Amino acid sequence: MADATSRTDLFIGGEWRPAASGERFDVHDPGTEQVIASVANAGADDARAAAQAAADAQPGWAALAPRARAEILRRSWELLTERADDLARLITLENGKVLAEAKGEITYAAEFFRWFSEEAVRLRGELTTAPGGANRILVFHQPVGVAYLVTPWNFPAAMATRKIAPALAAGCAVVLKPATLTPLTALAVADVLHEAGVPGGVVNVVPGSSARTITTAVLEHERVRKLSFTGSTEVGRMLIEQAAGRVLNVSMELGGNAPFIVLADADLDAAIEGAMIAKMRHNGETCTAANRFYVEAPVADEFAARLAEAMGALPMGHGLSDGIRLGPLVDAATRDKVAELVDGAVRAGAQAVVGGSAPGGTGYYYPATVLTGVAADNPILAEEIFGPVAPIVTVADADEAIRLANASRMGLVSYVYTRDLAKGLRVAEALESGMVGLNKGIVSDPAAPFGGVKESGIGREGGHEGMLDYTETKYVATDW
Ligand code: NAP
Repeated sequence: MADATSRTDLFIGGEWRPAASGERFDVHDPGTEQVIASVANAGADDARAAAQAAADAQPGWAALAPRARAEILRRSWELLTERADDLARLITLENGKVLAEAKGEITYAAEFFRWFSEEAVRLRGELTTAPGGANRILVFHQPVGVAYLVTPWNFPAAMATRKIAPALAAGCAVVLKPATLTPLTALAVADVLHEAGVPGGVVNVVPGSSARTITTAVLEHERVRKLSFTGSTEVGRMLIEQAAGRVLNVSMELGGNAPFIVLADADLDAAIEGAMIAKMRHNGETCTAANRFYVEAPVADEFAARLAEAMGALPMGHGLSDGIRLGPLVDAATRDKVAELVDGAVRAGAQAVVGGSAPGGTGYYYPATVLTGVAADNPILAEEIFGPVAPIVTVADADEAIRLANASRMGLVSYVYTRDLAKGLRVAEALESGMVGLNKGIVSDPAAPFGGVKESGIGREGGHEGMLDYTETKYVATDW
């Protein structure tokens, strides 16, 4: 079971309360399939109450001195860090990722509070003279207003703090709807924020099994001005349409399909190390997961053999058990989709040199799988796998790798390995993605602008841009 002290009610207006309907829904451990908690199931009335609480809190929070907001965020970083062990355990229980990775997620999640506590006091504007000399142009940034945040299950802490921290830093009150599979971590984060001194109503959390009902009720509230979503491109597209009704400011962190390019001159030790992170972090269930490996012919066989050896050696089991490096996938649907993609890839001519079939039994496990002999038009390359599966395509040269990498509707992140930095930068420039890991298997950093191009999203989270996404720019024409 989740810890007896875990929060399982809605957090609205600074208070914990059951759903207006009295309904609750169950949360499961994907490693055991057992129920670990029963959580209040928000409906339309609760969603409206949360939006109203945020609207009531908005002016006071925006008027608070930036330093005061910054200090509350800094205290939130300290508290989240102090509670890292308990929170990591909660993440492993509801999401499946292994405990060490869950601890890593808490560090990453907490860092958004620290980074944006530092950014809160550095929201600069500008003053220029109009080219014709007729007037001065004064530009400054104001909070966009109440923001509605929708997050996925794969990073239940970090995807929430990556939105809450910049919103609060900019002076916005928020309503957060976490994923139904993983509401406990988000509620624990709300607890931390409350204790850190966030005033009632500035952060509201409404988990619920009908995302559509909650979203419609919040987005219809006249004071809600912003929608920030992280999740699949399919749902993001629907939400963009829904937000168009009230012309809301939208930020979208959507799906990926990351190419991982290994050129013949790459340091193969580094490339394998990077591939293990880019592919296997959180069981492959990340938007930044390396999804398609394009390896130059002279090193393709050696790279595949070494990756298969490294991936095949990862012990699989419950994320709370010692020594485990690969946990269960989040639910049966996710595991079954991975299995179908692998079966389809094999039917299209690929060979599974390690892994390749689900073990059966209790828990949503799927083994680390390496596919070789993958043709450039194998259907698995067109889908976000979201599991521990690495399809490897042999390419003739860097130009072919770039062409294949860019032949995707997605453009979140790409990875390139080469010892020739100038060549690596040329490839990075040519790749159609919002981020590139050049001889790096991980790009996520609270101090850097995270986000995608094409159907991978709109806007950036983290870095300086992250806070600007929660502001409107105002211009005043004046003279003296
Ligand atoms: P998802 O199915 O799109 O769900 C994401 C969130 O949207 C959940 O809270 C979900 O609620 C909610 N939702 C679903 N249908 C909705 C609707 N009709 N109206 C309003 N909200 C709705 O995505 P997921 O399976 O949780 O997450 C995996 C996806 O997220 C992958 O595609 C991954 O690449 C992407 N992702 C992207 C980033 C990034 O930064 N670009 C980061 C992490 C993940 P329920 O839980 O109740 O369904």
